[in-house]
Amino acid sequence: MTYLICTTCGVQMDENVTRDDICPICTDERQYVNPNGQSWTTLPDLISSGMYQTTVTEEQPGLSSLVTTPKFGIGQTAYLVAGTKRILWDCITYLDQTVIEEVGQLDTMALSHPHYYATQVEWAETFEIPLYIHEADKEWVTRPSERIVFWSGDRLELADDVVLHRIGGHFDGATVLEWTAGDEGRGILLTGDIIRVVADRAWVSFMYSYPNLIPLPATTVAEMASVLEDVRFNQIYDAFHKIVVTDANAAVARSASRYIEALNGHVKERERR
Ligand SMILES: [Zn+2]
Ligand SMILES: [Zn+2]
Repeated sequence: MTYLICTTCGVQMDENVTRDDICPICTDERQYVNPNGQSWTTLPDLISSGMYQTTVTEEQPGLSSLVTTPKFGIGQTAYLVAGTKRILWDCITYLDQTVIEEVGQLDTMALSHPHYYATQVEWAETFEIPLYIHEADKEWVTRPSERIVFWSGDRLELADDVVLHRIGGHFDGATVLEWTAGDEGRGILLTGDIIRVVADRAWVSFMYSYPNLIPLPATTVAEMASVLEDVRFNQIYDAFHKIVVTDANAAVARSASRYIEALNGHVKERERR
């Protein structure tokens, strides 16, 4: 059975997709088809190329990042939260025996949105774990599996110290992960690219499409921020390894206000926080 992987987004398809097809994730206006044409690979081909390596790095006690070098696909960072359960947050395409041994054991995995589906079913099958995706994004699953659990509503307790919050925006089912025990109990929010940490690390942003620079409506950003108002977290780790190191909940609130003001035509000098 051949499961093709799109080289632009790194997402794996089911066995019915052929090399003549175009990636459904990349034809959506939030992504883009490679200007040189659609290209496909497979996990066995990536492994046998010997080009790639996925590195697991401890960021702080209980939190590790997973990054593939050289960059493959979108180049996102996945995270391993080792609290009351060992949870893989988001996914990356490159998985080989070395990574499997480094990661060790996993209890479950959860995804922020379709751009990071990567080889999620390979991971779920390898570690024999469930894979949590919000039901609002069901149509974007390119490789169905019995391992996938479609959850509904706006909140799911994945473990005693981990809660998924569906905040929408970038995708209907866009989800962030709250780890209450992270940052020595002050709380960490893992945001994928549902909330991105920007160049000024005291601020974040929210987009419908990052590669095509399409913003979100003001009402949507207000809703996203209001869901997080009552969630306690001091730090944010996003999908590109950017971190808000302190006071991250306030950073989300002030960044949402600034974004909404900008969309409404009020851009002014602000004090740097
Ligand atoms: Zn693609
Ligand atoms: Zn995305």
